[in-house]
Amino acid sequence: MELINGKELAKKIRMELKEEVEELKQKGIKPKLAVIMVGDDKASAVYVRNKSKACEEIGIEFEEFLLESTITQEYLINLIKELNNREDINGILLQSPIPEGLDIREAFNTIDYRKDVDGFNPINVGKLSIGEDSFISCTPYGVIKMLEEYNIPIEGKRAVIIGRSNIVGKPLIQCLLNKNATVTVCHSKTKNIEEITSKADILIAALGKPKFVTSNMVKEGAVVIDVGINRNEEGKLVGDVDFENVSKKVSYITPVPGGVGPMTIAMLMYNVVKSAKSLLKK
Ligand code: NAP
Repeated sequence: MELINGKELAKKIRMELKEEVEELKQKGIKPKLAVIMVGDDKASAVYVRNKSKACEEIGIEFEEFLLESTITQEYLINLIKELNNREDINGILLQSPIPEGLDIREAFNTIDYRKDVDGFNPINVGKLSIGEDSFISCTPYGVIKMLEEYNIPIEGKRAVIIGRSNIVGKPLIQCLLNKNATVTVCHSKTKNIEEITSKADILIAALGKPKFVTSNMVKEGAVVIDVGINRNEEGKLVGDVDFENVSKKVSYITPVPGGVGPMTIAMLMYNVVKSAKSLLKK
């Protein structure tokens, strides 16, 4: 079994991006990410801090908009429109969740697709589905990058995804399909899930249930990617896969923490740099 080291790989990507950012700056382009956070969700605050640290390391400018949970939808939409129009900003990220009563879908739809570094705008979702160049949402993109960097073949392989959320499962379907995998998706209404997962060459768990994937659900020699981030009873971070037992059976596996998580932030940085680079073509 080989461990897919997301932490190391993410560091390598960040170092490559740092060089690219230096080159862009020499050409007069300063990549900049705007992050909007509404309310004081503790987990979101940690994610935003990690994103700001990554920006700082790479040399990407970072502007935070920390909004009270009492703001109106109109205020949020107007802020996004203002950021869409600002030439110094290449990427706009709205940290989810936002308080109930605000419409996150409308907010994502308002972000200019050319600055939509999270890849949640329907234009980017649509472009991904027809195989056009687009911003790909960061977690699925991180998963694909891991497979590629470890030279794990995707073409012709049977890939099974557990989870069909808009931010992870669904874009992953498209990413894997674009790489010529044969893709099956499981969700909470899927019957006999073990029968499906145990045929997977590549199994991706993205459902948010600690240790859901047990060794009987996995084929000998399979590649297992664990997207899940959960807290167990002791408050420790665990994935969706029973790592201890599943790892004995597989060819490759990602750990939690240190797997998909750091890759997500690295691919966000990648998307911000991609957006800044598009200015070179203008
Ligand atoms: P989500 O929106 O809650 O979606 C969960 C998906 O899993 C749904 O499609 C649901 O099916 C399916 N599901 C739930 N229980 C199931 C079961 N018993 N059997 C089969 N499918 C089941 O979650 P998400 O936002 O995609 O996140 C999934 C996990 O990834 C979470 O642990 C989250 O923290 C983690 N995550 C990690 C990163 C990272 O950077 N590593 C990024 C994003 C998310 P239905 O559609 O039928 O409800």
